[in-house]
Amino acid sequence: MDVKVQSLIEQFGITEQTREFLAKPKYMYIDGQFQSDLDRPTIAAINPCTGGKITEIPLGTAADVDTAVKAAKHAMYKGEWSKFSPRDREQALRKLAELIRENAQTIAEIESLDSGKAISGCKAVDLNVAANTFEYYAGWATKIEGSTRDTSFPVDCVTYTRKQPVGVVGAIVPWNWPLGMAVWKMAAPLAVGCSIVLKPAEITSLSMLYLMELAEKAGFPKGAINIVTGKGSVVGNAIVEHKDVSKISFTGSTNTGKIVGQAAISRVAHATLELGGKSPMIAFEDADIDALAKNTLGSVYFNAGQVCSAGSRLYVHRSRYDEAVAKIKAIAEGIKLGPCLDPETVMGPVINKTQQDSILGFIEQGKAQGATLVTGGEALASDGTFVRPTLFADCTNDMTIVQEEIFGPVLVVIPFDTEEEAVELANDNIYGLASSIWTKDLSRANRLIPQIDAGAVWVNIHDPGDPAMPFGGFKQSGIGKDLGPEQLAYFLETKSVWIKI
Ligand code: NAD
Repeated sequence: MDVKVQSLIEQFGITEQTREFLAKPKYMYIDGQFQSDLDRPTIAAINPCTGGKITEIPLGTAADVDTAVKAAKHAMYKGEWSKFSPRDREQALRKLAELIRENAQTIAEIESLDSGKAISGCKAVDLNVAANTFEYYAGWATKIEGSTRDTSFPVDCVTYTRKQPVGVVGAIVPWNWPLGMAVWKMAAPLAVGCSIVLKPAEITSLSMLYLMELAEKAGFPKGAINIVTGKGSVVGNAIVEHKDVSKISFTGSTNTGKIVGQAAISRVAHATLELGGKSPMIAFEDADIDALAKNTLGSVYFNAGQVCSAGSRLYVHRSRYDEAVAKIKAIAEGIKLGPCLDPETVMGPVINKTQQDSILGFIEQGKAQGATLVTGGEALASDGTFVRPTLFADCTNDMTIVQEEIFGPVLVVIPFDTEEEAVELANDNIYGLASSIWTKDLSRANRLIPQIDAGAVWVNIHDPGDPAMPFGGFKQSGIGKDLGPEQLAYFLETKSVWIKI
């Protein structure tokens, strides 16, 4: 471990479990074993606050994916996992949720160090997202059902449908919610009896490896969950192309999603794609601008803006435009940037130098294209990859910063005059992940909800979440849903049964 990370840890302290976990060498988790025998090249896990190395993560190979898929297939069709009753699966999922809550501090510390997320946010959001999602799908394990049918032709048959797990699931996740996104991919398929081969993002694998220690304690048998760490071009690609992976569950950028989707369809594998976003917030003349400004802490500045559903485009009625810009500026300037482990930190760094450079590049483009930089717009002088909360006014829809996903703490504000214009501007984007409408007039909100091209429409709030509510995009934001009962369907095949009597 780099001395800079050590001094960060000494300054803020971590639990004994976190120390022990960080001190151990890291191995992939395949067939119920941490693979200490495999000698693989490694990639450094870097702490974004300091730029220092935390530990090394193995770079898996296509052969490792093959071993993991074989283990998953055996577990699902012949091994102990295949013998788990729905109630057994429910209990294992519930136990895992319980262990996540019991070890919340340790998981939050690991996630915060690895991703740079503010530890307060990790505890308040990421940990609850993970535990709540496992608990929610635990409840579904015993409620999977087919139906009987009364047929007309031919007669004398008993006819019914039965639901059965689709097969081995290949899950690929991004770095912005390492734990949360992985749990979104795992809970529903495990509830219905699928087994999983999951690849975390190569730069944020630590929390998943720790979770496997808890999964063992929760009673998941070998092969039910397998974690292969490494690069998308190697491990991700091998998962997508493996003939025995029946279903690809992908979360990441739209560009990678297109590659993954094409590879999946070329061998007729099931695939759901949860992709990028550039979600609009629309504030009308009667909006509560104070609430909207305060909500930017959750909508666009949370997790340093590295949130797929971030409300990163704000359309405000011209009569409230100056007020909105002034109030959001005050909020943005009050955000405390700092080291990820500091409980007082509200915003940590962005994930790495590549992402920081990309965000700063977008900011330069915004200035060059004529947007007014109201606040922020620069990096902090620090070893960490911090970007100040940024606000642009006087934007127009043709600007790059209004059209493209920046994936950083950057909000652009655009005025409008009429309801029709607001809807047209909000829909004028390749993405359609989420949106919010800010108005006291619920008749107007109700009228506009069907008109917004997005997988979620929130009214007078942006980015609430609950495992019961499906999440997934329209347009180039994806295909399919995570969460809710909707997600279960993607992991179930329907079999049509006819019995002649
Ligand atoms: P990314 O597309 O670069 O990588 C995502 C994952 O895909 C990583 O694990 C990566 O290693 C893997 N990968 C890369 N190339 C691959 C290939 N050829 N085959 C298979 N796998 C491959 O995305 P990222 O930069 O890690 O994450 C940020 C993106 O994720 C943003 O666009 C964000 O909006 C999106 N995201 C979407 C949601 C959602 O639910 N819609 C949630 C979180 C993040």
